[in-house]
Amino acid sequence: MLEVVRIPVLSDNYVWLVHDQESGETMVVDPAVSGPILAEAEKRGWRITHIWNTHWHPDHTGGNAEIKEATGCYISGPAAEKDRIPTLDSMVKDGDQLRLGNHTADVMDVPAHTAGHIAFHFARDNIIFVGDTLFAMGCGRLFEGTAEQMYDNMQKLAALPDETLVYCAHEYTQSNGEYALVAEPDNMAIKARMDEVLALRIDGKATVPTTIGLEKATNPFMRSQDAAILAERRVAKDNF
Ligand code: ZN
Ligand code: FE
Repeated sequence: MLEVVRIPVLSDNYVWLVHDQESGETMVVDPAVSGPILAEAEKRGWRITHIWNTHWHPDHTGGNAEIKEATGCYISGPAAEKDRIPTLDSMVKDGDQLRLGNHTADVMDVPAHTAGHIAFHFARDNIIFVGDTLFAMGCGRLFEGTAEQMYDNMQKLAALPDETLVYCAHEYTQSNGEYALVAEPDNMAIKARMDEVLALRIDGKATVPTTIGLEKATNPFMRSQDAAILAERRVAKDNF
């Protein structure tokens, strides 16, 4: 079993601490910062052995150097962004595999938010870490890629089993949902989900992880029939 711990940092980032009980290995996905991550691991008696980065943005890599300094951990990230993540020990790309103990994650290229963005899919554990590519009822902004690429990413992710747990890197659900209600005014699943999301947020609670099945029902980007519709929706959301 992989144990996944959510660590909220900065204004709306989630850093994920992933522990494999069997081997004792502990991995951090996208450490925005170091202090709270090292503190959480220490509190649990876990030694951080790996960092995996989904993309180069500072709110996903900012803790790399200090966590490595403190723990000697090994850092893996996107080969296509190696020049922008100087702390990488190993460069990975689509089709590569990374291991945490006996658990294997397939690396998937999901470019668009950044040109080399990757995701980590633990197929046998039904877990995927998607960084800033897929959010609850949303998708990442198209900073270094196209709507066609993001459409392809959504199709690839939608093809995973419905029960796959999706760990994204930001708590954007409420704002995404407000746009989703406008994009698909007749979608009752979005309305029902938003009631739950608002209740959670009023209590300051997290709304992620989500699942592929829930996103297929409520995410206007994953539900876009083609790249042109996704492009329209992305522009509309940027200006929402
Ligand atoms: Zn980002
Ligand atoms: Fe981010």
